Parts: sequence; C-alpha cells; structure tokens
Amino acid sequence: MPWIILSFNAEFRSARLSFANILYDYMKSLYTHLECSQCSQHFDKYQIHSYCPQCTQPLVARYDLQSHPGRNAIQNRPPNLWRYAELLPVLSPEFQITLGEGATPLLRLKNTAKHTGIHQLWLKDEGNNPTGSFKARGIGMAVSKATELGIREFCIPTAGNAGSALAAYCAAVGAQANIYMPEVTPEVFRLDCEIMGANVVKVKGSIRDAGLKMNADNTDGKWWDITTLKEPFRLEGKKTMGYEIAEQMEWELPDVIIYPTGGGTGLIGIWKAFQEMLEMGWVSKIPAKMVAVQTAGCNPIIRAFKAGQDVSEVYENPAETIANGLRVPKAFGDKLILKTIYDSGGTALDITEEEMLNAINDFGRQEGIFLSPEGGAVYAAFKKLLESGFIEPYHRVVLINTGSAYKYAENLI
Ligand SMILES: *Cc1c(COP(=O)(O)O)cnc(C)c1O
Repeated sequence: MPWIILSFNAEFRSARLSFANILYDYMKSLYTHLECSQCSQHFDKYQIHSYCPQCTQPLVARYDLQSHPGRNAIQNRPPNLWRYAELLPVLSPEFQITLGEGATPLLRLKNTAKHTGIHQLWLKDEGNNPTGSFKARGIGMAVSKATELGIREFCIPTAGNAGSALAAYCAAVGAQANIYMPEVTPEVFRLDCEIMGANVVKVKGSIRDAGLKMNADNTDGKWWDITTLKEPFRLEGKKTMGYEIAEQMEWELPDVIIYPTGGGTGLIGIWKAFQEMLEMGWVSKIPAKMVAVQTAGCNPIIRAFKAGQDVSEVYENPAETIANGLRVPKAFGDKLILKTIYDSGGTALDITEEEMLNAINDFGRQEGIFLSPEGGAVYAAFKKLLESGFIEPYHRVVLINTGSAYKYAENLI
C-alpha cells in the first residue's frame, strides 16, 4: 500500500511513535561533510559552521550516497521526514525532533486539469505541516541539528511562517527563539510565536530590515542565526519535499515544478534531492524544469533571470503584498536559485496581486482547496505558462502550495 494513504490514517500516525525507535536504529545518517557551494572547500561535520567565510556563500551537506540501502528500504517507515534519515544530517536518533512534519499529500487536480486542458496535474499541499507551512521541514531540521551540536539560542528574520516554525521547534527542545518580523506580518504569527514562548520583535520595513535589526541586536553572535541559507540545514529539511514528490509519483519525476520563491530553499532543496536520487539510482532521469514565481512588486530573481545574470540585485522599496513569504528583496542563496533555474531548463515569472487573488478564488471553487497567497501565485503562474506554451498539455506538472491559507485570513478579508 502506498505510504501516502497510510499518512492519512490517524491511528497509524500515533502508532508510529512506538515502533519508530526500533526502525531508527537501522537508519544511520550517511552525512559526511559540508561543502561550499562556490569554492567546494570542505568543512568538518562535527564543528559548527554557518556559511563559507571566504566566499560568503551557502554551505551544502554531502553524504556517502554509495552506501545507501536503496529506495525500497524506506517504504514501510513512519510518515514523517525522518523516513529519509540516511540522507539527513542528524547523526543521533535522539535529536531527530518531530512534530509530525512532512508526508504531506500530493493531490491529483482533476477538475483544474480538465478546466485548463492539461492531462496530469498535482498539488503538493504543504499547508498540512505543523505551524501551517513547509517551513516546519527546514526549521525542524535546523533546530534538530543545532541541538545535536549543542546550540541553545536561535534567531531569525521572518515573514511569519519561519518564525512560527522556529518558535515551535525551540519549544520542543527547550531552546530560546528570538524572532524578528516586519510590522505588516499578520498578527496570528506573532500570537503563535509568543504562545510557544518565543521573543518577538516587530520591525518597520521588509524582512531585510528585520534581518538588519536582528544583526544589530546580536553583535556578539550569542544567538545562532538561521536566516535562509546562512546555515546549511534548513535546506536539508526542505529537500525532503523532493524525495516525497518522487516517492509519491512512483519514482517518475514530473516535467515541471512551480515554486513560490522567497529565500529559495525549497526550490534549491527539491533540485538537490533529485540530484542525490539520480546518483543513488532511485530515479533514472530528471526531466523537471524548476520554475520560480515572485510578486510583481518584489521580483529580484525574475529580473536577474531575464537579464541572464547569475546573481540578483537588492530590490529597493519592495511593495507590500498579500504573499508575505515572497517579499524578499535579496536572497542570500540567490546564486543557487538562479543556477537551479538555469540547470533545470526552468524559468522565472512574476504575478500581480490581482492575478494572485483571482487565482485563489478560481482554485477554491474548482478544487475545494483554499490556497495561501503564495500558492495562488503558483496557480496563476501555471495558467500563464500554459498560455505561453512553456507548459504543454502532455507535461506532468506539480504545483507547490507552500503554506496554509488560514494564517493569511486578515490579508484576504
Ligand atoms: C517562506 C515561504 C515561501 C518562500 O520560501 P523560500 O524557501 O524561502 O523560497 C513561500 N511560501 C510560504 C507560505 C512561505 O512561508
């Protein structure tokens, strides 16, 4: 029976705790070292590293992929992201912290497919994660790994969801979270962060300004900064989306994946998972074109892509948007985002606020699913790409709904 069906089964979900401990014994991490994404220098896995001090570029985790037991080994494991434990950086099972993240549904969108004339269309619905977004994957991994390395205090600039996730996982391990968010962030994010015991600071401006304020409060570096891609392990959590998509599609990867891009960890992570799976022989080819979507009022990646550049420029005065997660004027991992788009033969496009709202409304009626604004941007982009011919009716396409709509209610009223 495919595991995704099991993942809907509440009894199975609670039962997993009892036999998880037995299973984890056979799931030793194959993590070997960190590598600079620019200069390829290696960094020791037992020490604490953020990014490459020479290149100021992200570090990526590498594994002894040759030693993996094979894709069938994971088949009967519990439905959370630790089912891929060999390919994750946490070495000791006691630090595999879980609040039930991952194992989200990949829903076949029959109505929308029919409506738009495409044969095979899916939605990976990440709104089902703890704290309501896929940030739980990345932050859960970063907090688990940092806890293993002995770190007890964290900080993050956030558009909302990353803060909620950090507050949750810090509460789970008894660590301290310092969260900096733009004033315009919906109040529910501050509320849930505070309920989970985090220290929240609201900052005038964008997430970039929140990051600057955070750095000013952390000059002595006492807090571990888990800004997107400034530490290496959020990427490892996010890459599990790529493993799940492959597993749920029975190891035949899709032709197009459309992703709402802020800091870019999900886009880069899914692509990283695909490369690892190819190297291990879990998939035989990677047809997937990776598509980055941003908003028209803050589109640094789209601008760089259109100009054929390998790095983006800071987007000055980013417009406010209902898609808070996409208001990132300069992603630390912009080179990796652009490389992923180019290497995969993908593209990048932006969406207006009106297109986003219309997309959320149309999709809700068609599918009975309330998309987050970021998910709405993805659906709007899908329709545009179908119109332009980038997507053809025979393509197998996966849309990513990165978060739950319900936390954004005040933006949508
Ligand atoms: C953070 C976030 C994004 C952007 O994700 P990145 O991995 O930073 O590109 C998109 N959608 C939602 C709902 C988010 O919370």
